[in-house]
Amino acid sequence: MDLFDSHCHLDPMRYLDELPEVVARARAAGVSGMAVIGTRAIDSEAAADLASREVGIVAAAGIHPNDVGEVVAGEWDRIVALAESERVAAIGETGLDWYRDHAPKDVQREWFDRHIRLAQRLSLPLVIHTRESIADALAMLREAIARGPLAAILHAFTGTAAEAAEAIDLGCHLGFAGMVTFRSSAQLREVATTVPIDRLLVETDSPFLSPEPLRGRRNEPAHVVHTARCLALARGCPPEALAAATAANARRLFRCR
Ligand SMILES: [Zn+2]
Repeated sequence: MDLFDSHCHLDPMRYLDELPEVVARARAAGVSGMAVIGTRAIDSEAAADLASREVGIVAAAGIHPNDVGEVVAGEWDRIVALAESERVAAIGETGLDWYRDHAPKDVQREWFDRHIRLAQRLSLPLVIHTRESIADALAMLREAIARGPLAAILHAFTGTAAEAAEAIDLGCHLGFAGMVTFRSSAQLREVATTVPIDRLLVETDSPFLSPEPLRGRRNEPAHVVHTARCLALARGCPPEALAAATAANARRLFRCR
């Protein structure tokens, strides 16, 4: 199988000196591509460094909505510098999180808007986190797309079929993470079957959200195979075909070989 983990956080802080083994296990499991996503300037820079060393790894630079209340002086300039340096393939992780109230809504909106405008200015795809906020995020994306083109990825999608349809109408790609494999997620699996194959992505969101049967353990990109198999089963297609199609989508979006 040829797999692409379209969303993982492989910052050295979380994996310490195990990172080479984590990448090696991913490769052994058929994960030839990984998008390593930043949540602050420091891990965005680490992601760009990893991407420059490892074939098939791309990086995204951004500040996570749960962290926008703690941005330090000069931090946004570092994100912009990374984005302009061509060392990153995407902008994010950005978005809106109404579940956790780490930052006020207006502050989160302002930072989401900044990331949107940066992605549009540099023609880079935007990696979006939503939690109990899909309708508001889609409204902001609709406004942005009225101004100009934007390639958006709704990562770890957990919305309804109607929300998925609206996102697809806006040209978004939808990433599915470990929760789609949970026994209790029959409805989400149903939603995943409605997504056109050319808009579908698989991801781990490592180190979070381990899929069944590894739920509860620290996640890593090698585990994306379980999510791909689960989606293939739900959609009634061979796992190899689903893996190849989602990997091709990720490579097209992130412009990698
Ligand atoms: Zn993430």
